[in-house]
Order: sequence, then C-alpha cells, then structure tokens
Amino acid sequence: MAGEPQGDCLFCKVVAGAIPATIVRETETTVAFRDINPQAPTHVLVIPKAHYADAAALAAGAPELAADVLRETQVIADEEKLESYRIVFNTGSGAGQTVFHAHAHVLGGRGLQWPPG
Ligand code: AMP
Ligand code: ZN
Repeated sequence: MAGEPQGDCLFCKVVAGAIPATIVRETETTVAFRDINPQAPTHVLVIPKAHYADAAALAAGAPELAADVLRETQVIADEEKLESYRIVFNTGSGAGQTVFHAHAHVLGGRGLQWPPG
C-alpha cells in the first residue's frame, strides 16, 4: 500500500531507528538528518516518514505530506542560518538518485554554482 514501510529501504530503516543517523529535527510526519557524505557545510536530508519512492510519487500520492517536507526544508535553512541554499530532489537514477525513498537535500553554507552538473 502507498506509504507503507519497505523492508529493503535504507531511509525506512532510518525512520524506524534501525540504522543510526544524525537526526536534526523530527515532526509527526518527517525526519531531517545529516547526509553521511556531505557536499556542502550544511547538507541535511528531509524525508517523509511514509515511504514514497521519489518526489513525484510523494506529490501525487500525498500532497499534504509533500508540503510538510517542503516546510521542513525552510525550518532547517532557518536553523542552520542559511541565507542562500538549494533544495534538491534527485528523481531517477539518471539524475543521481540512489535511495528510492523521497528526500529533499538542503544544501548551503558555501557558494553554489548554477547550473548544477
Ligand atoms: P540521492 O543520491 O539523491 O538518492 O541521495 C541519497 C543521499 O543519501 C546521498 O547524498 C547519500 O550520501 C545519503 N546517504 C546514504 N546513506 C545514508 C545514511 N545512512 N545516513 C545519511 N545519509 C545517507
Ligand atoms: Zn522507504
């Protein structure tokens, strides 16, 4: 069923506490934790607790939850005192998605080039 935990999903395991993560914020519906391989001084991932494979599936299946994720990215940016930052949803392996549980990257704390690679 849409949103149900997947046994083989890394980020469902983070939500369950089955693998360790540096959690910076948690709400009823979302978790934010530091990326294990940071690409910027601030690199936080915001995920819905419910499992959706990517941002498109999340937006289609649970738009209010997609809004929760987006709202949390703003809270993280404020807490990390980021004046400029980038929110990234890699969608599909060709775009660099490696974990198929929807997640927003919040990147900041350094200059960010545009367009990205
Ligand atoms: P993506 O490539 O967009 O799917 O992003 C997946 C992100 O998850 C990458 O930036 C990884 O560094 C990060 N990542 C993978 N495993 C962990 C973990 N156990 N804890 C925190 N971040 C992770
Ligand atoms: Zn999952």
